[in-house]
This record gives sequence, structure tokens and C-alpha cells, in this order.
Amino acid sequence: MTTAVGIKGHCAHCDITFELKPWQLNAIAIKEPFDCPYCQRVLHLSCPRQLRKLRTLDHWALVHPGMMVLTCMVLIVALVAEWVGLVSVIGQLNVSLVVVLVHGLALRYARYRQRLTLSLEAVSPVLPMEQLARIACARLSQQ
Ligand SMILES: [Zn+2]
Repeated sequence: MTTAVGIKGHCAHCDITFELKPWQLNAIAIKEPFDCPYCQRVLHLSCPRQLRKLRTLDHWALVHPGMMVLTCMVLIVALVAEWVGLVSVIGQLNVSLVVVLVHGLALRYARYRQRLTLSLEAVSPVLPMEQLARIACARLSQQ
């Protein structure tokens, strides 16, 4: 998780929204509880929908460098094609413009997707029991 910056977390206990650090995002992604930097309560993300969103974000971040390379490639190819005489100057400009536009839109979309606030809930002391019960239920349903 390298480019996943700008994701915020909201602590349900002290009601503070803060920027999540990469290690905190990793902890959330692997469902590992971590301390709130303000009230020191142990936090976790209980909403499965938000967790799924965070995980798809991770995939999107991986797509991103490839997009950059593709844009540069198309720009260079269009430039070379113009030099060789395959396309006119206007044609080359059109291709470049479209590619830059598409790249800009993709960047905007990526930024839009990254604007995410995760509602983190404090882990209550009874949770280990709940967790054990849930594990027991899951085991029973598997049999
Ligand atoms: Zn807190």
C-alpha cells in the first residue's frame, strides 16, 4: 500500500477524524486492531462494506503506475509517427490531447476513490468472547 494516502479514519470513541498512516491501513486491511492516536483506545473497522472498499482501493493503486507508462508510450509513439510522416501535426496533437485528457480523468477518478473516511469503532472488552463465539459458530456451520 504505497499511494493510499488521504484516507481518513474516524474514531467513534473520541469523535476525532485523523489521517491514517500506511501501517494503520495495513492493520485495518488484515483486520488487526490498533490504538487510536488520541484516546489510545483499541480500534477496528467493523463495517465489511468499508473494508471491501479499502481492499479494492489497494488494487486500484497497483493499476496506477501502468497507466502512467501507457500515457507516456502513446505520447512518444504519436510524436515518432509525426516525425516519420505517418500522421499530420494536427493528427499528432489530437492523439496527444485525447491521451492527456484520459489520463487526467483517470487521475481524478483515482483521487475521488481515495477520498474515504473509515468509521473505526473501539474494541469493547467483551470482544474476545464474541470472537470466540463467532469462531465456534463458523466451525459448527462448516461441519
Ligand atoms: Zn479515539
